[in-house]
Amino acid sequence: MTNSKYTPVIGLEVHAELKTNSKMFCGCKNDPFGAEKPNIHTCPVCLGMPGALPVANKRAIDWTVKLGLALGCQINKFSKFDRKHYFYPDLAKSYQISQFDLPFCFKGTISTQEGEIGITRIHLEEDTGKLLHKVVDGKKVSLIDFNRSSVPLAEIVSEPDIKSGSQAKEYGKKLRQIMRYLDIANCDMEQGGMRLEANISLKPADSPEGFLPDYKVEVKNINSFRFLEQAIDFEIKRQAVILDSGRVPTQETRGWDSVKNETFSQRSKEDAEDYRYFPDPDLAPIRFSEAQIKEIRQSLPELPEEKVARWQKDYGLTAEITKSLTETAETAEWMEKVFAFAKTQKIDLKKLSHSMINKKFHVKSGERAEAVIEKFNQLHDTEEISVDEIGGVIATVFTGNQDAVEKYRAGQKQVIGFLIGQVMQKIGKKIDPKIVREEIEKKLN
Ligand SMILES: [Zn+2]
Repeated sequence: MTNSKYTPVIGLEVHAELKTNSKMFCGCKNDPFGAEKPNIHTCPVCLGMPGALPVANKRAIDWTVKLGLALGCQINKFSKFDRKHYFYPDLAKSYQISQFDLPFCFKGTISTQEGEIGITRIHLEEDTGKLLHKVVDGKKVSLIDFNRSSVPLAEIVSEPDIKSGSQAKEYGKKLRQIMRYLDIANCDMEQGGMRLEANISLKPADSPEGFLPDYKVEVKNINSFRFLEQAIDFEIKRQAVILDSGRVPTQETRGWDSVKNETFSQRSKEDAEDYRYFPDPDLAPIRFSEAQIKEIRQSLPELPEEKVARWQKDYGLTAEITKSLTETAETAEWMEKVFAFAKTQKIDLKKLSHSMINKKFHVKSGERAEAVIEKFNQLHDTEEISVDEIGGVIATVFTGNQDAVEKYRAGQKQVIGFLIGQVMQKIGKKIDPKIVREEIEKKLN
């Protein structure tokens, strides 16, 4: 809940590992989660050996531009990779190859129900290795796995336009959906394939447009959209209490404790860190021509929002139903096949999609259109028999089988099977025995 005295100012940084075959700057296999052993997908480049030369992965660059175009970004026709220096054991070179002032994409948007969110930039960098903290021979040790080192990582930075936890969640889910539609990232959050960071602060509700508070709290390592929403809503409340008391929240990095449902302080961040960025001399700058950008734009698939609009128009479905059936590109593609066949059978698509969403009949995603329609038709037969009609048949069966009814009432519950059989036989149509059982039980009890 938002305290009406303050307006939340929230920006998101999302990291997504791209699912190219090979890593960002070497030919090693990009499979950090599937590898059966640590440090098997490695070479001098991704182990940071002195003198090893990186070669940029063209597909990862094209995919980043593709993502930018899908999000309405502008593309830098001249771009480059920069070295970002810091020391940490999972970063063998002591610098990460990233992009500083000339990211591939800038100025995009994602629309949410609570308003549009600006995208500041999308840049491409390499992932780091992974530290594992274990006990070996009774000793606490930290192990390093470089299978993930130099996996292509796109970073999508939003403007501080987000106002609530729910809006952040919607933004994140849309971004994930688009990346999956583009088939460029799995975005598996549990495995760290998509990682979320939120910058959160509050400003007085009457501050002018564009005013930014002079502090911000960063919540890192959030691995689910639900936790993202909870962490933001928790921070909004926590910071409001501090501001109410006349103090300013500490500028710091916090983590999310999903057991206690609260954020906790990790380290204070008084000053901006100095990464001594400079252009990587081992990698040539990247140029994009208008024609190349056009080619990538033409390779874009129909995106979720476009699909929702078209389905509403072509199939006469509501936005809500359409959204639920276009959640993934696979489901949408399958549904279009089902719809095409249903049309030839003169089946009402609204009725069909309603039944599918409400799980009125069991159907597996990807099932043959003919099979789906057959099941739908069976259900339809069932629905044609009114409860009153079933009631009439039950009354007749009861009159003709008083013994059975009395036995049931005397406690011989298994007799109900016989009564169900009699009713089904009399109706003479394929109907769901569960419905018959329910109606008989109602009458017996
Ligand atoms: Zn390598």
